[in-house]
Amino acid sequence: MFLSSPLSRRATNLALLVPAALLLSAQSLALTEAEDPQDESAPQAEILQLDQPVEKEDQSPPAEAEAGTPETDKEPLPQAENLQLDQPVEKEEQSPTTEAEAGTPETDKEPLPQAENLQLDQPIEELEEPAPASPDTAQPESPAIQEEAATPESEERQTDAAPAEEQARPLRLLGAEVAPATSTRLAWSPSQHFEGVYSSTAVLVVNGAKPGPTLCLTAAVHGDELNGIETVRRVMYNLDADKLSGAVIGVPIVNLQGFHRGSRYLTDRRDLNRHFPGDPHGSSASRIAYSFFHEIISHCNAVVDLHTGSFYRTNLPQLRGDLSNPKIVKMTKGFGSTVVLHSDGAKGTLRRAAVEAGIPTVTLEAGAPMVLDELSVSHSVKGIRTLLNQLGMLAKFRLWGDPEPVYYNSTWQRATNGGIIFSEVELGEFVRKGDLLGTVTNPITNVRTEIRSEHNGRILGMALNQVVQPGFAAYHIGIQAPQEQISPPEEVTAESEQADAEAAVPAEEEPATDEPADKVQEAETLESDED
Ligand SMILES: [Zn+2]
Repeated sequence: MFLSSPLSRRATNLALLVPAALLLSAQSLALTEAEDPQDESAPQAEILQLDQPVEKEDQSPPAEAEAGTPETDKEPLPQAENLQLDQPVEKEEQSPTTEAEAGTPETDKEPLPQAENLQLDQPIEELEEPAPASPDTAQPESPAIQEEAATPESEERQTDAAPAEEQARPLRLLGAEVAPATSTRLAWSPSQHFEGVYSSTAVLVVNGAKPGPTLCLTAAVHGDELNGIETVRRVMYNLDADKLSGAVIGVPIVNLQGFHRGSRYLTDRRDLNRHFPGDPHGSSASRIAYSFFHEIISHCNAVVDLHTGSFYRTNLPQLRGDLSNPKIVKMTKGFGSTVVLHSDGAKGTLRRAAVEAGIPTVTLEAGAPMVLDELSVSHSVKGIRTLLNQLGMLAKFRLWGDPEPVYYNSTWQRATNGGIIFSEVELGEFVRKGDLLGTVTNPITNVRTEIRSEHNGRILGMALNQVVQPGFAAYHIGIQAPQEQISPPEEVTAESEQADAEAAVPAEEEPATDEPADKVQEAETLESDED
């Protein structure tokens, strides 16, 4: 159910279309043959009054042959239960064991159902219902969980590999216990939904045979960012639980609502990545964020959150992290040949909230939204596998390339006029002050303006060729500054992106105003190119 993505559905439709087209041509062929007087064997088509309504689909006499159809009155069918439809359904009967409700997954004593060991890379023939989330998923208010989340168990399981004598431990997650040396597929669905309406999203878990940290990979927090989905798939399906130290939790599609609609946002037009760590009593987005943060993120010792550029911009594969935090510096160094950009992250991002909860987290940016590109995906996969080596989670040691420079500073160059932008530079290119980056031509007046670099630096992100408004952030230039000069990078924010945000969010679909107006305003206009 959770994997019946628009993509696969589209594929199925296509598959259906092709035979249909073949059938059509076969039929028309048959018609031509029937008209051929030479061929006596072809059945004569009945002459019909096409404008006459069809009284009854005449199911031709040998109907009883089709024994299994519901038309045959003889076949016994199960009797539908007589219900009081106006009676509220007490509980989706998902949990046969009511005592399970008493214990949150945090309580180590409560026995949890053992997760099945799966070959994750084996395609699922028939989609079975994923393991039901524990009943407590629906009750995130429990103060115990809140406490736990504020101080995750990271104390005992640091990012550094655990001492050798320690035993690998079962991982208790989403109402299941994943034993060491087990790969499995669990499901998370935010508690805030109509029963039966919201579908759950897959949570892939590989718990290694040996002890070690828990690394989490999250993708598509913005539903239109596809590269991360494929990256998580490739990483997870190539992990061997018997050879892994620690655990890897991969969530390929966090924002399933947005993914289904090809949208960055949740259904209510809110940016999920501005609502972490969430609030169990807040807006819909806050509740979803809260559930995800407490059900998944609080179990991680480190997180890699995968993103792409936003609004028709593309990013050179790059890490973003708060480089004033030594744990995060260490983590970024684990990715091998990947550009690093200092940024502490906008408030409400998963990255910022996780770091504030003591969990080292970086964003891995690669490519553009709505595009799957092989270079971005393979770079990301390589980076994460290198990180697994560096964290001591994968034994096979390998070094990937020379480390890329760290950019402690970056700036945006904007379009000064509106029009059609064409770039003269490419992602990753080094530019000097005065270099031509691109041109913006007004299609009506034919006035052409140039955007020239104001810095010596490197193109870390850029607009795809498109129509832009004046002020559109077009080129993200990384500047190599001494570490002492760490300054907060310029976020692509509020005023500058208002035009784009308005273009992306039609006026009639303004976010629901169950929050004070100013708060909504703040949340929705803080459009950065990342996170
Ligand atoms: Zn994003």
